[in-house]
Amino acid sequence: MPSIGIFGGSGFYELLDDATEHRVDTPYGEPSDPVVTGSWQGREVAFLPRHGADHRFPPHRVNYRANVWAMRELGVTRLLAPCAVGSLKAELGPGAMIVLDQFVDRTTGRPDTFHDGPPVTHTSMAEPYCGTLRALVTEELTALDRPHQPTGTIVVIQGPRFSTRAESRWFSAQGWDVVGMTQYPEVPLAREAGMCVAGIALVTDHDAGLDGHPDVAPVSHQQVLEVFAANVEHLKELLGRVVARIPDERDCGCGSSTG
Ligand SMILES: [Zn+2]
Repeated sequence: MPSIGIFGGSGFYELLDDATEHRVDTPYGEPSDPVVTGSWQGREVAFLPRHGADHRFPPHRVNYRANVWAMRELGVTRLLAPCAVGSLKAELGPGAMIVLDQFVDRTTGRPDTFHDGPPVTHTSMAEPYCGTLRALVTEELTALDRPHQPTGTIVVIQGPRFSTRAESRWFSAQGWDVVGMTQYPEVPLAREAGMCVAGIALVTDHDAGLDGHPDVAPVSHQQVLEVFAANVEHLKELLGRVVARIPDERDCGCGSSTG
């Protein structure tokens, strides 16, 4: 059984020499695609592209509950959740990676809990991301000498539209670092499912632009795709090194945050 799950696309399957597809039925319907498991770096790993292998689900239509449930059904307790983001800071340019430690939810209407009751259940979300996994990811980014930031807050917007300039200025003024569309409700659902989560944000653009930098154009979908494609090998290399080092035993409190 894989204990490590990655919400990553089909580009990862080629890394597995023993890929097996699993169609997982969940109480919330079908995941975005079958989950593919196999060994990578000597570990059993489960992959699921959150948007579907052909990228057919926009961020607001992803069945996050089914995706997380399927991972848990297959035995996943550690989840790596890479995502493309817009940077809200001049110093974080395209290609930089942020090891997320907080999120702010600005989505609407997404089913975001497994706990519809009874019983009434509340989950601590003070520290949404796993400290152990975050330290591991940061160590590997340092070893690889990649531009990165060891902490960061992501504001998760509903999408699929990008931010207005006013929204982007507002997010930036709050001190938030990056803007994305998928960490919510993926991360809190994984926490409800008792998983450790690492959110690795890859900067593809500067959102609606940067104040004082008129040369920085607002983000386009094309730019996101191009920059992500140009950096996907860096991301794979990083994830491979992290997967190899995730300890078998958990020394954190992520598995017991619901009560
Ligand atoms: Zn943990």
